[in-house]
Amino acid sequence: MPDAVHLRCSDPACAATLDARDNPLACPRCGGLLDVVVPLPQADPRDLQRAWLERRRSNDALDASGVWRFREFLPAYPAPALVSLREGNTPLLDARHVPAASRVARLFFKHLGWNPTGSFKDTGMTVGITEAKRAGAARVACASTGNTAASMAAYAARAGLPARAYLPRGAVSGAKLAQAIDYGAEIVEVDGNFDAALARLVAGAGTGEYFVNSLNPFRLEGQKTVIFELLEQLQWSPPDVIVVPGGNLGNVSAFGKAIEELVASGLIAKRPRLVVVQAEGANPFARLWRSGAAALEPQRDPQTEATAIRIGAPASWKKALRALRFTDGLAMDVSENAIRDAKAAIGREGIGCEPASATTLAAIEQLAADGRIDRDATVVAILTGHALKDPDFIMRHSGRERGV
Ligand SMILES: [Zn+2]
Repeated sequence: MPDAVHLRCSDPACAATLDARDNPLACPRCGGLLDVVVPLPQADPRDLQRAWLERRRSNDALDASGVWRFREFLPAYPAPALVSLREGNTPLLDARHVPAASRVARLFFKHLGWNPTGSFKDTGMTVGITEAKRAGAARVACASTGNTAASMAAYAARAGLPARAYLPRGAVSGAKLAQAIDYGAEIVEVDGNFDAALARLVAGAGTGEYFVNSLNPFRLEGQKTVIFELLEQLQWSPPDVIVVPGGNLGNVSAFGKAIEELVASGLIAKRPRLVVVQAEGANPFARLWRSGAAALEPQRDPQTEATAIRIGAPASWKKALRALRFTDGLAMDVSENAIRDAKAAIGREGIGCEPASATTLAAIEQLAADGRIDRDATVVAILTGHALKDPDFIMRHSGRERGV
């Protein structure tokens, strides 16, 4: 089994290995989350880098995807089986006007909101839905604060699979809900928050639904490629710091796995430090990090206007902890005011993002002001969603209600 793609329990104390075709949700031995293990390619790193760049000139569907372009590090599927909307290939934009731009040597926004459905979820969903098809799923399902539902609905439609999204009633941006409906998903509104919606999804397991939440390790494989593409855009010279918003913590887990695999294959030597940032009102992981406690204490009623990261019981906290330890990173939180200011500042860059994405700049402003980021550092803020994902937030804070 170790020579082929397989699953492994992410708890190193257990490390049970499983056949990828068994479609387990969690480790049957200890209940831990699973990792997909793809044998590392043996090719010369420079040959791989050349091949990946060369594929950008190709119109082949597999090459035109910014995820499958890096397929040497992904589970293998026959080309016609791939479910792709040409995701990835998102820009790295330099910051010009925000205060932090003058406090560090180089500050970039990696904008994952410029994916097909407007969020980073697409980079993982292309793998998740491809795997769902391979597994013979009759229907796919997820719990979501909105972005996952929109992405799942689009890729499921592409694959000809019915999709069902469990959403917290009244807590999802209308724009995201509209996307999921537009792509034909069935919507189940659940009383309570995201955590309640996730509990409802898991409770229905065994009814033939294939889950594409971030519990699904195949999605994280696709999200890994964000780091590959970012490094390619920086000529394979790793940045010092990468800052990523923390909700359910799947993204930082995927980034940590990418960095581990890139180091192990000799593609990079230096490990960029990963910084996870949460909103003060939805900060169970930042509190865990500060306290040094052994286990995450779920937060019962998380509150933040950054609804994409309004999550009290992040599923992937153990994987996220592993990512921070491997990269000498840290977790922190920022206030609602700081999120609002940072979001406006990113807008004035002509870039724009959804509120959760703005936590990154708020964190960078704070770390740079405190001297916790060196002045000669290269820093990357991961923007996870498009400005049009939550226009209501913009209108609430635009001053238009005052007649300005
Ligand atoms: Zn286990």
